[in-house]
Order: sequence, then C-alpha cells, then structure tokens
Amino acid sequence: MQEIEAKPSVNLTPMLRQYLELKQQHQDAILFFRMGDFYEMFFEDAHKASAILEIALTSRNKGDENAVPMCGVPYHAASSYIARLVQAGLKVAICEQMEDPSSAKGIVRREVVRVISPGLVLEAESLDARGNNYLASLSFHQDQIGFSFVDISTGEMGVAYFQTLEALQSELPLRAPKEIIVALQDLEHPFLKNLKNILPHCVLQTYAAELDSSKIINQFSDEFQKCWKALGLEQVSPLAQRAALRLLAYIQEALKSSVNHLHEIHWVKEQGHLVLDATTVRSLELVRNLQEGGTWGTLFQVLDNTKTSMGARKLKSWILYPLNSIAAILQRQQAIAELLENSFLSEPLSGLLAQVIDLERQNSRMATGIANARDVYAVGKSLELLPQIQENISHFHSAFFQGLLADWENLKDLSSNILNLLREDAPLTLREGGLIRDGVHAELDELRAIERDGKGHLAKMEEEEKQRSGISSLKIRYNRVFGYYIEISNTKRDQVPARYIRKQTLVNAERYITPELKSYEEKVLGAEGRIRVLEYELFSQLRTQLATQASKVSKMARKIAEMDALLSLSAVAKENNYCCPDFVSSEELNIIEGRHPVLEKLFPSNRFVPNDVLLNGDTCRLMLITGPNMAGKSTILRQTAVIAMLAHMGSYVPARSCRLSLLDRIFTRIGASDNLSKNQSTFWVEMEETAHILATATSKSLIILDEIGRGTSTYDGLSVAWSVAEYLHDVVKAKALFATHYHELIQLADEKKALQNFHIAVKEWKGEILFLYQLVPGGTSQSYGVKVASLAGIPKKVIGRAEEILKQLSEKNPPQPTPASESLQMPLFTREENPLIKEIENLQIDHLTPLEALQILYAFQKKIRGL
Ligand code: ADP
Ligand code: MG
Repeated sequence: MQEIEAKPSVNLTPMLRQYLELKQQHQDAILFFRMGDFYEMFFEDAHKASAILEIALTSRNKGDENAVPMCGVPYHAASSYIARLVQAGLKVAICEQMEDPSSAKGIVRREVVRVISPGLVLEAESLDARGNNYLASLSFHQDQIGFSFVDISTGEMGVAYFQTLEALQSELPLRAPKEIIVALQDLEHPFLKNLKNILPHCVLQTYAAELDSSKIINQFSDEFQKCWKALGLEQVSPLAQRAALRLLAYIQEALKSSVNHLHEIHWVKEQGHLVLDATTVRSLELVRNLQEGGTWGTLFQVLDNTKTSMGARKLKSWILYPLNSIAAILQRQQAIAELLENSFLSEPLSGLLAQVIDLERQNSRMATGIANARDVYAVGKSLELLPQIQENISHFHSAFFQGLLADWENLKDLSSNILNLLREDAPLTLREGGLIRDGVHAELDELRAIERDGKGHLAKMEEEEKQRSGISSLKIRYNRVFGYYIEISNTKRDQVPARYIRKQTLVNAERYITPELKSYEEKVLGAEGRIRVLEYELFSQLRTQLATQASKVSKMARKIAEMDALLSLSAVAKENNYCCPDFVSSEELNIIEGRHPVLEKLFPSNRFVPNDVLLNGDTCRLMLITGPNMAGKSTILRQTAVIAMLAHMGSYVPARSCRLSLLDRIFTRIGASDNLSKNQSTFWVEMEETAHILATATSKSLIILDEIGRGTSTYDGLSVAWSVAEYLHDVVKAKALFATHYHELIQLADEKKALQNFHIAVKEWKGEILFLYQLVPGGTSQSYGVKVASLAGIPKKVIGRAEEILKQLSEKNPPQPTPASESLQMPLFTREENPLIKEIENLQIDHLTPLEALQILYAFQKKIRGL
C-alpha cells in the first residue's frame, strides 16, 4: 500500500489511474485487474502475489523511473491461482472489463465483480466436497455473543445467541469457520485474542457496515425476507441480529448483486443438541484424526458410505450435532430399521443417489452466475432422477420418509427445460457458442444453416478461383486481422488476376481479397457472431429461470442429502453388525459387548475384544478403571463415549445391545496431548480442560477422564485425581469413566457407594504378561510398568535393574545405586522368593472361573495389606 501512496506525483497512465481508483476501494484485497487474456497485479499486490504463486515479478515501463512492479496470470487458469491466494488467507478482488475493448472509446470500463476470501469461495478447487465452508460473524456485549454463520457454497445460514463465552468456545470449533468478521470496536474483545488457539487457520476480518436492517434484507430473495421476518430477531436477540446483518452486508458486497441463492436462515438453539465440546470432538477423532487432521481412522470414515457429497456433509453435521430429543432419535432409528428390513428396496435407491451431483453447490454456482453450461446440464440430469427417487422412497412408511415425501417436488419443468435446451458436450466457455441444441430455437437453426452453407460455399469458391486463375495452389484462409483472404505463393505472383486486391506481403506469399470474398465474409461472420450472442442469451434466460427455482432445488438437495446420510448409516450398521440402542427413562448407560467402531475395523476378524459397560444412577455411576499401560483402558473409555454419541445421532451402535437414557453432554479428557503451538504445558491443558468439565457437567452428562494428573509429580497428580474423582461422585453426579494408573484410588470405592472399581485383565505367564483386553470388576494394584517396558524393547539389563529398584521402593527404601564394579555383572532377573509370588506362579488361571479368580485376588490383597 505504501508504494501506491508514494506514487501520485508521478505521471500515471490512464489505465494505472483506473487501477488505483479500484484498488482504493479494495485495499484489503489483492486486485486481479483484467487486461485482455490476463489478470494483472501491480505494486505491493504484485510483490505479495508473485511470492505466494511463484510467478515472475516483472515491471511495467521497465527501466523507466516510473517502473511499476507487476505480475500476471492467464484468465483461463485464474481459478487455481485464486485458490492458492485464498488458501494463504488472502482476499482476492476480481476486476473485469465491462465492455468490449474493440468498441470501447478511450479506456475500457472496469469493475470489481466479486471478492473472494476464504469464507467466500464457490469454486470446487478451494472447497472440500465432503465438508462445509463456513463464514461466521460475531458480535459481543460483554460475555454475551451474537453468532451467525453461512456456507455460501450451499446456501445454509444460521444465527444464534450465546449467553456465555464457553458456549461459543464449544460451538466455534465444530463449525470451524474459515473466516470470521467482527465490528472494529469488537476487535479488542478478550475472546478474539485467544481465537488462534481455538481456530488456528481462521482469518479474522473487521467489517464496518451501516446495519440498516431493511436496506440489507431487501437485497435478498423474497423467501429469505419472509424467513427473516418470521425469526423476529429484533425481539429475540438484537445481538444475534447484528451478527447476521453484518454477515449479510459483507457477502452482499463481496458477491455484488448475486446473493439470491440464500433462501433461509435458521435459529440455532443454544444446546439444541447433545453438546460435544471441542476437546471431545478432537480426542474422539470423530471427523479428523489427531495425527494430521485428515479423515483416515476417524469415526466419519467408518460411517461414511454416502453416495453424494451433500450426503457426506449432512452425515458430518449429524456427527457433530447429535440429537437430544428421543422423538427425533427414534425417527432415524425407525428409518434405519425399515431400510435394513427392505434391503432389496434400499439398494436401488442408493444406486440412484450415486448418480446425483452436488446440487447444493451447483445451485449456488448457478445463482451467482459462475456455473457453466456443463454444470447446468449435469443439474438437469440429476433433477431428472427425482421422480424415480420419489417412487423408491414411497415404498417406505416410517415418519422419516414421510417427512421427505411431504413437500417433494419433481421439478420436471426445470429438468426438461435444461435437457432440451443444452447440449451435453457444451464447452466450458459461455460466449463462444456450442451450448444450445439444434431444433430448439428457430432463429438459431437458421443462422446455423447459413454458417454451414457458408463453409460449403467457401470450398466451392476456392475451387472456382483455382479454375479461373489457373493457380492450383491457391488457398482461401481466415485470420482475425484480415478476415477471409486468398493466399498465393510468390512463384505464381505473375498469374494473379487483376481484380485481386493485395492486402499483405509475406516472405514466400502474398494475400489478397476480392469483393465477392468480402461480401461472403460479412454474411458468414455475421451469422457466427449472432449465433454466439443468441446462444449466450438463451443460456442466460435459462439461468435466470433456474435462479427463480433455486429454493426448490435447494430443498430437494437437502432431502437427498438426508436420504443419503441415512442410507449410509443403515449400510454401515448392516456391514458391521451394529445394534439398535434402546432409549429408556431410568438413568443408565448399559452397553453389552461394545466395540470401538474404528479400532475393530483395523483388527483381523473378531480379534477385537468386546466389553460391557454398565453404568447407572445409584450403584455404579463412576467406574474407576485401573490396569497396566497398553491394557486397553483408553480404548474402553473412547468406545463408550463414541457409542453414546452414535446412539444420540440416531445411528445403530457397535455392541450386542445398548440401553441408555438421554444425555445432555459428553466430555472427554484424554491423553497427554501437549499443545506446543499454544505454548502450554500438558499439565496446564489438562487442568484447564478438567476445570471446564467440573464447571459445566450435570448429572445428565457422560464424562470420560483418562489418566488425569499425569503431567505432574506423583503426589500432586494423585491428589488432584483423587479429589476430582470425589467431586464427580459427590457433587456433579454425572456418569463417568475414570481411567487411572494411580491404583491408590481404588480405596475410594470403600466409601463412595456409586463408585466401582474395575480393571483390565492381563495374564502373567512365564514372567511375561499377556493382554486380555477384558474389563473385569475390582481394582488392581499391579501396574506392570516394568514388564510393559520390557515388552517395548528396553534392554534386559535395564529391566532387571528397574525391578530391583521397584522392589526397594515398595519396601519404602530409597533405591541404592549399583556399585560401579558390580554394574556389569548384575543378574538378569532378581526376585526374592516371596510366598505370594510363588502362589501366583502356581495358579492355574485357565481353570479358574472369574469369580474364583476374584476371590483369590481378594485374598492376596488382604495378605498384602496385612503385611
Ligand atoms: P491403555 O490406555 O490401557 O494404555 P489402550 O486403550 O491405549 O491402552 O490400548 C492399547 C492397545 O491395545 C490398542 O492400541 C489396541 O491395539 C489394543 N487394544 C485395546 N483394546 C483392545 C480390545 N478390546 N481388543 C483388542 N485389542 C485392543
Ligand atoms: Mg491410555
């Protein structure tokens, strides 16, 4: 910017002056300035863009003192360059030539027709087909927040009011907006200072606009206006209204006139769904894995058997926003049951959906004038399938399907208009003809006949001229500068007829015209030009007609998305042998033979060991799970949370049976994930998350706490874990699974009646341990840390020494350093003959019932405690 301001004194060309005027209005964007077949960038923009795009930085008026840095990209390849700039978090303003340069007087009129930023993309290159692309807006009043979001690529828009920053903090990572706009005065709000921690890749923009409700809303479609009025935001929440208006003003300015694809805006109730906070979504790896943020190894990957990108996006939102009403859950369950019972009907339905393109996104592209003829043709082809899809769905009777069928529209006029008008092989450009079929428009047919005849005529004319002149090598050709001409090589120059008019001299040939040739040219070229104009007109008319029907297309797209997501859930339930969870009013979470949906797929058949989790309100509300590392504690915790979450999204679950009461939230605190980018220690993050859980959980929540207190010294950690467990039991009263390596905690069960000890069975065999992955009642004081270390490949010598130290420590003696001379000859396995160890060694575990084992264990424990 500085560079531009420093220049006004120099002599600018009129073109650069025009550039600077436009740039003035779009200072925060890279201005793509259309010049012929290129978009050019100048000054600071050229520096920035050339570095990011790795293209040459040159200069206009090179060597001159007025040299202006510039770079450019060809217009036909612009979208990939724009995508890269937007990905880098920049805004791009597209400035087009608004008149034909050849007919313009003076400098060509140019205008910015669209601004593209991370939250405002419509191009497939910059969008994740199976995910939403949200732009959000926030307005603050102390700790209350107005929140609005839109995905302009699909036309979805919502608005909400949150009473606490905590609620916003939960919501934002789920939506994961690419861009957030706020008013200038809100920029200093403490929440935004912390935004990078919550959304590391989100771009924050300020946007100052006069928020005159009627002025802004009037720019949108009638349907949208109706919907807006019905919401009555002014009364409901002026703060939310402000957020929504700012968002609308912003997109309207960026997309210019073409915002008529937004048809509705819905009110998002705070806690209108089972709340999964950001940590839970992340650590359960619901839609992104922890390694690189991709979908591999996520729940979404297991559940996603959708046939359309719309369905995939819907499924993702079902995962992130599970239901919290039994009626709504039952609707999905019953529909899945019906699909499973009638697989001969559901398979053809899936086959039909597989042929449907991304109608939501194409709809937005059509409404904003970006769609080309091929896109529109594909929309027509998809809409053509609607009657068949309707027919298929009509075989199902449950409420979900009845809901889909209720206001179903086949949009036959629309599909037949598209398919009758457009050619299947239409080119990607709109102004060069080839879009419209023969036989649909009389004038077009006539012009095409002239054009075709003209070509035959040309061949005839060439033949005649050859005859008349006797020059057999004579050719009639065409170029843009001279139009049609006759070319004769220099060797025949002396035979050129006198009526030929010379136009151009080349090295080896001369070019001529004749009056006949020119009159022919007028006719043909006239037809050609007229055809192009006419085809574009017909296409534009169709697009306008489509725009008026856009809300219907988007309604049908939504129905298809829901159908697809549901079909996917039923297919996955069938393939993986899931069961239908049963919602009950008594307080419980009762899972028999539950499995982890992702892990079980990674194991060869039936190697994954299922486990029961039986929680209820009075006798076992808090399960304290002990057991060595690698025993499978974290897996049980995660699978319990995932099964509960799946049940709330209306899905079947990986278990033999599942009975549960409705939850309000699922919390997880899993693993020691150091957040280096946040520059916070493990322990700090852990305590922050635990504090959040203790403050927000209710008796209707499910809490998963894994290895709490690990990131600090033993006594600190144990004390924190202990008091958190007590607080959960006595005060919060939520259902909770608490995995810990502090086996001291098992004593808590003596006093806390709803807390039960469990551990995961391992088997010691010939000095080795075997993992059984079975959750069994009772605590364990064995952590087998040294044995696990040995399994992991720590050298035998180190293991032997560790066992020695462990023994000294457990006898409450400080470890004795090994004398230097002895250290090399240390025995591999030192074990004092303890009667207990002998007893354990001689046990025939294979012949014990679990109950006997438990009794023996109990006896051992008594002995040890007695010692
Ligand atoms: P912990 O939290 O006790 O250290 P994890 O839950 O992380 O143990 O499990 C360690 C590994 O054990 C997992 O990566 C998995 O390979 C295996 N595992 C866990 N649970 C099971 C199970 N139920 N069946 C089979 N293998 C399991
Ligand atoms: Mg673990």
